[in-house]
Amino acid sequence: MDKHDFKTETKKLLDLVIHSLYSKKEIFLRELISNSSDAINRLRFLALTEDNVLKTQEPLTIEIIPDSEKATLTIKDNGIGMTKDEIEQNLGTIARSGTRNYLEKLSGNDLKDLPDLIGQFGVGFYSAFMVAEKIEVFSKSYLTDEKAVFWTSDVKSYTYEISDSDKNNRGTEVILHLNPDDKEFLQEWKLTELVKRFSDFVEYPIMLVTSKEKKQVNSQKALWQMQKSDVKKEEYNEFYKSLSLDFNDPLSVIHYRAEGKNEFTALAYIPSEKPPLSFFEGIKSGMNLYINRILILSHSEEILPHYLSFVSGIIDSADLPLNISREMLQENRKLMQIRQNLTKKILSELKDLKSGKRKEYEKFFQDFGHFIKEGVVSDSANRETLLDLLLFPSSSSEKGEFRDLNEYVSSLKEDQKEIYYLVSDSYELAKNTPSQEMFKTKGYEVLYLLPGIDEILVQNVQKYKDLSFVSVSEQSDSLKDKASEEDKAKFKGFLEFVSDILKDDVKEAALSSRLVDSPACIVREKGSYSANLEKVLRDINKDMPLTKPVLEINPSHSLINKMLGEFEKDRTSNKLRQRVRVLFDLSLLLEGSTPKDIGKFTDDIVQLIT
Ligand code: ADP
Repeated sequence: MDKHDFKTETKKLLDLVIHSLYSKKEIFLRELISNSSDAINRLRFLALTEDNVLKTQEPLTIEIIPDSEKATLTIKDNGIGMTKDEIEQNLGTIARSGTRNYLEKLSGNDLKDLPDLIGQFGVGFYSAFMVAEKIEVFSKSYLTDEKAVFWTSDVKSYTYEISDSDKNNRGTEVILHLNPDDKEFLQEWKLTELVKRFSDFVEYPIMLVTSKEKKQVNSQKALWQMQKSDVKKEEYNEFYKSLSLDFNDPLSVIHYRAEGKNEFTALAYIPSEKPPLSFFEGIKSGMNLYINRILILSHSEEILPHYLSFVSGIIDSADLPLNISREMLQENRKLMQIRQNLTKKILSELKDLKSGKRKEYEKFFQDFGHFIKEGVVSDSANRETLLDLLLFPSSSSEKGEFRDLNEYVSSLKEDQKEIYYLVSDSYELAKNTPSQEMFKTKGYEVLYLLPGIDEILVQNVQKYKDLSFVSVSEQSDSLKDKASEEDKAKFKGFLEFVSDILKDDVKEAALSSRLVDSPACIVREKGSYSANLEKVLRDINKDMPLTKPVLEINPSHSLINKMLGEFEKDRTSNKLRQRVRVLFDLSLLLEGSTPKDIGKFTDDIVQLIT
């Protein structure tokens, strides 16, 4: 028997595997099954191209054999097998460049993050050392004139031995002598669960062999590899539910195969609605990455852009390296292409839903619209498409109805050159906000936006089809100095008076061109945040200065004219000062803000009533 030392880098990997990986031990089974499945794949390929292939009668299978008495777990296949030279090369050194690069990158500091990383990374055959103190491998190559070989390694010694073996059938048998602490991997249910979780779609039968029976544990049925026409709607839906743990059927299924230089299969689901909060925690979205039907990453948030994280599904590619890690995902060019391709498909599906199933899409948008909005801001490459997916309530819609930007632009008034919007907490509040009155009177539609995300969105995109977004509650060029010279002269003194009373809270009082029925409204500086967002930001940063708004008054309103009369008669009247304050506080309420001093506000009202 020849005794060998492992090469230095292999020792390093072994050390790492044995001492740093506790949390993801179970991946060893996935790795060994994956090796067996590869070995069978290669055999099938060679059987097509070569004559000199050792035949067996049995079907191509992978067997998992737990033996409680001996405390061994055997993984056995009838694939390509290994010759003596191959086993020396494959199991004594680290041939894979991915592993080697990865090892080179590792410095001592990285070790604390390792268990998590490496679980995703795949350390191949060596992962078996996480659970075994000793490993034996019997292998017989497909080449008819090669002798069978025996390889064994004791973990503690960092050595391995090779000798001849009398194994007479083709393939490889890996016998793990389990650590005393890892006996759980002898339990039938545990093995079944692991196969189901990681290797359910492996192309070959995976048989669990016990003293009592021999049964297949993987379903072998990779839905995504099937022809679309062969999959029933219920099968798609069931698969979605098992994948995402969602109770609802999905809104849409996207299933296609990309051909060409970068071949892959994608099966992606768009959810129909967000489950109640308590259930949402349990929903697992994200994409599962398979390489040739072997699960590499589950529920990965890295495959699609963050704003599509509500999508769940599967990518299966033959062109990616099996040892791909989360870090490497970001840099892998093929995967970037897959991401772009799938993103486009999902967006185009959403577009179709919006035009074809408007009601369902609206429901979807109410639950997941904030993701689409995030996309508008973050994905400039797809911005046009994403903008067309947006929906807003508007002054032209009933409660619960929505308009899109294209609809808005198609119904522009002839003289309208801007897109008008109003930021408000709710449809009801928006409907009653005075600052939009003149726009509505002119027949201009006003979109109702939500504080926060929508504001950031319009400030970010600024334009849609060359039309600027303009807030009806902000000072704007189109509404500047519209008051008549006559009104300006008439109200000059009164405006100064009001400005003075409210000087702590407003920048100034001014004549309004946007009011019709209401006496006054709050207007904010161009480009400033809404009162709501400002409040949120101030909660985060107490030092953020408050911007003072403008109080606009309606020169045609009877109340304003009455107050002007009072002002001209007796500008020292306390009642008048009180009325001015109440007018301001009421305007704040209509804007969705609260008066600064609620106590004073109620007192003022009570006194005015009595
Ligand atoms: P990887 O499978 O990622 O290449 P491993 O360390 O798991 O890395 O295995 C190293 C090599 O050993 C494989 O590339 C393969 O050539 C060989 N090998 C491993 N398991 C088997 C097996 N069951 N049958 C045949 N060859 C195997």
